[in-house]
Formats: sequence, structure tokens, C-alpha cells
Amino acid sequence: MQLKIGHLYPDLLDLYSDRGNVIILQKRAQWRGMDVVVDQISVGHEPKLADYDILVMGGGMDREQGIVAADLQKRRENIQSAVDAGTVIVAICGGYQLLGHYFETSTGQRIPGLGILDIHTIGAKTRMVGNVVAEMDIAGVAHNIIGYENHSGKTILGPNAKPMMRVLKGYGNSGEDKFEGVRQGNIFGTYLHGPLLAKNPVLADHMIELALRRRDLSAGLDSLNDDLEQRTNAKLYKRLVANS
Ligand code: GLN
Repeated sequence: MQLKIGHLYPDLLDLYSDRGNVIILQKRAQWRGMDVVVDQISVGHEPKLADYDILVMGGGMDREQGIVAADLQKRRENIQSAVDAGTVIVAICGGYQLLGHYFETSTGQRIPGLGILDIHTIGAKTRMVGNVVAEMDIAGVAHNIIGYENHSGKTILGPNAKPMMRVLKGYGNSGEDKFEGVRQGNIFGTYLHGPLLAKNPVLADHMIELALRRRDLSAGLDSLNDDLEQRTNAKLYKRLVANS
């Protein structure tokens, strides 16, 4: 069984080792006996994105976002066909913002997004920085998700956007409504670096499951030994939420 992962703009969007998310997806699929192909896709590469089971896009500074935004506009239809084909899309921070309608930097420059997610983002003068603990429903069960955020942008959700998580500690989308990220079908946008999937294997497996299901392939993933991740996750929860 083959899983095809596309890593979008690895050279431009890779804050806090966001590429770790690609490695985790690759390893966890390989450990289940899958054959995994990872392609790096950046400015000038134009593969058909609907061929990918999972697309991953990391975070970046405002300058890099400007370059990526211009390139994304040229891929608008290509990305929309991936969305229509059920490709799982994981976008972190700067990448997340660019899936929305626009990102207006704190100096007033408006960077257009793809408008695939019904969100827009406005840069604030003070940055939202620190560890985050949030709660997310995955297949009907609430899980604690741990991550790290560092952004100036405050993301405002439109009526068609559904938050991905509830913030227990940290800022999340705007620091105001206690929501973090957006989930829309198989698209996940979030401010959580981490790398997110290294810290939260349950979320990585959920994405692999969704990617297989789009091809009618999944019959459930074999479980892996995630004791270390679970212990670390519980420790952070205790320190950041229970004891605060
Ligand atoms: N430039 C964006 C912001 O500060 C994204 C930062 C990031 O990806 N960490 O809001």
C-alpha cells in the first residue's frame, strides 16, 4: 500500500522544524508496512496535487509568506482539486493563514490567501508566544493536544469555519475566543508548531486514517507504542493546565 505525501514549500515555510510533521507521518505509515513517497514541492514545481494523499505546509515569517502567497495564487485550481479529491491538508501557522482569505501584517500589508478556509488574519502589535494545550475531538473522543505557538496574526473565523480545538492554555486563533485552528473536511489549519504531530501521535494517525479512507483503504491502523509521547504529553498537561 502506498501513501503519497507532498511537502509544500519546505525551503520557505519551516519554522520550529515543522518538517518534523512530514517525518512523523512518513515513519508512522512505514511502521505499519506502508510504502511512503515524500515529494518536496516549492516554487517552480507543479505536480498534480490531487495525486497526493497528504499535503503538509509549515509556518513562515511574513516575508516568506509573501513569496508563497504569490505562488499559491498560480496553483489555486490545482489545490482546489486536491481539496475536492479529499487530500488531507495540514497547514501550520503562516501556512494556515494563507489558506484563509488574507493575512494583513501588523504594518498594514495585505497578503492575499486562497480563501479555501473561511478565515482572515490581522497582525497585532504584540505576539502570541508560548506553549499551548488544547482539547480536540478525534473520532468522538476528546484528546489533549500539545503545541507551541508564536504568531502576531489574530485569526477570525467566518460562519463556514469550524474551530479544530478548544484552548485550555495559550492563545490559539486570536487569544480572545479560546478556539484553536480550523477543521474543514480533511483540511486542518492550526497555529501549533511542535512539531505538532511529533507531540500528538493520535492526530498523526487520524490524518493517516483519513488519507487512506479517501481511497477506501483503511481497516484501522495497528497500534504503536506511544508510551513516551503519552507520558510527556501528560506531564506537560499537568504542568501547564492542572497546576496553573
Ligand atoms: N508571520 C505570521 C505571524 O506572525 C506567521 C508566523 C508563524 O508561522 N509562526 O502571524
